[in-house]
Amino acid sequence: MPLTIHSRKISPDGSHIAGEEAPSILDIGENQGIRAQEPVKYDFFVQVVSRELVVKGSVNTQLSLECVRCGAFFSTYIEDSSFLRAYEISEEVETVDLTEDIREAVLLKVPNFPLCSSQCKGVCLQCGQDLNAGTCACEPPHWENRWGALDQLDSK
Ligand SMILES: [Zn+2]
Ligand SMILES: [Zn+2]
Repeated sequence: MPLTIHSRKISPDGSHIAGEEAPSILDIGENQGIRAQEPVKYDFFVQVVSRELVVKGSVNTQLSLECVRCGAFFSTYIEDSSFLRAYEISEEVETVDLTEDIREAVLLKVPNFPLCSSQCKGVCLQCGQDLNAGTCACEPPHWENRWGALDQLDSK
């Protein structure tokens, strides 16, 4: 359901609007490394300033993101605490739809390279073992050997 605000219902001193919307307003498709299952919460102060409806406040939700290192999904809190938008209103246009801007505000806060933890060890590139769960028997990657060889050169 889209989140709309009717400018006539806003008091002259501004109105406080808070609530939550279904995660479907985020319109996140499959396979993007993001799962939205929790409601999107908003807390706004809305005011009509001359010909504009000004919406100020915060938007937050809990998203499940795919770790770029280990591929596991983890839950993380996403918040835009400085949501600020202005919408032109007129005699004809009295209703404003915030859905798209809320969606954008949340998605902009999603990290480009989500990590389940800064300590995440990822998976072994050779056997696929989740290195957070335990080590595997693979040889270390070649580049490590190469650095080792350089160290030996230095010490000569
Ligand atoms: Zn991870
Ligand atoms: Zn391995």
